[in-house]
Amino acid sequence: MIPFEYRRAADAREAVATVAARPDAVFLGGGTNLVDHMKLGVATPDMLVDVSRLPLTEVEETPGGGLRIGATVRNSDLAAHPLVRQRYPALARALLSGASGQLRNAATTGGNLLQRTRCRYFQDVTTPCNKREPGSGCAAIGGWDRHHAVLGASELCIAVHPSDMAVGLVALDATVHVLGPDGARTLPLSDLHRLPGDAPERDTVLAHGELITAVELPPASGMTRRSTYRKVRERASYAFALVSVAAALDLDDGGVVRDARIALGGVAHKPWRAERAEDVLRGAPAAEESFRLAADAELAAAEVRDGNAYKVPLARNTMVAVLRDLTEARR
Ligand SMILES: Cc1cc2nc3c(=O)[nH]c(=O)nc-3n(C[C@H](O)[C@H](O)[C@H](O)COP(=O)(O)OP(=O)(O)OC[C@H]3O[C@@H](n4cnc5c(N)ncnc54)[C@H](O)[C@@H]3O)c2cc1C
Ligand code: SF4
Repeated sequence: MIPFEYRRAADAREAVATVAARPDAVFLGGGTNLVDHMKLGVATPDMLVDVSRLPLTEVEETPGGGLRIGATVRNSDLAAHPLVRQRYPALARALLSGASGQLRNAATTGGNLLQRTRCRYFQDVTTPCNKREPGSGCAAIGGWDRHHAVLGASELCIAVHPSDMAVGLVALDATVHVLGPDGARTLPLSDLHRLPGDAPERDTVLAHGELITAVELPPASGMTRRSTYRKVRERASYAFALVSVAAALDLDDGGVVRDARIALGGVAHKPWRAERAEDVLRGAPAAEESFRLAADAELAAAEVRDGNAYKVPLARNTMVAVLRDLTEARR
């Protein structure tokens, strides 16, 4: 039994001040990831500051027509919210493809974004892992690498980010609101998570004590309404993505792509915004050939290992299928 303190924060400022003052204190959302890690010995905080009952539970329209999602909104409530379903279907579908109904009832928006990799070596404290213990090595490199990254990995870590919701949010150009000891700040959600580089122990750009307070979606448009998410996994439910694709497409009346937003999951240490593919698509006919060229452009930089080479054709085919679906939905 490893002792730790538990406090329920009265408000966001108090939560931030309490965690910031203690190097080993952490926020507790729904606990579905953090508590598992404590049981496994992967996380050993000396204090949990429970933020799950803070009044950050609203999903509300912003004056500009966007949507502000409080950090403690539960995944199931967000997926079922009428404005999310009507205006941002990629987000609703991403949420519903994650975990199980019971987990989604407990999981929070903030905690989902900050859940940690499912790399089996990260979760097994008997193996070397640079993310869990910097400088100890990476058991996945040369080991079991079937679920690991093909884009943006480093020599120190080849883990992938596991959140489905984050992939949907990146494709929808969301921003994240953060409160820290030095005040509030906002950043694009695509900048929240980082590539492993030489510091794989850092999943995000957040400093210790920074609390996610909300996520904000830009105003809905024809494009966000015609967005979708497809996840390929080993079982029909209750499994993490081998590869996933979130996409939104805007076509003109002649069937030419005016704009495209695409993000990939299961391929990198962060939700991967497919900007190269988007560039190829803009101005191109919405047709199979363009979709293949776009996918190839994005995946040209892929670096594969023995166990994960299948992810490149899988990502290519999934991207093409998703773009085809969106084009057909538009007709
Ligand atoms: C069996 C199983 C299957 C799963 N399958 C999937 C899946 O297919 N797809 C998927 O996306 N997820 C899946 N998950 C993961 C699940 O979605 C996450 O565990 C959950 O979203 C985490 O949210 P939480 O609120 O419980 O976070 P917690 O466990 O409470 O916290 C996670 C991390 O976030 C930090 N944190 C929490 N809230 C905040 C905040 N507001 N600001 C700053 N830091 C914060 C905590 O300190 C901790 O480090 C699965 C989980 C399990 C157990
Ligand atoms: S891939 Fe990353 S998380 Fe997995 S063992 Fe290597 S360093 Fe650890």
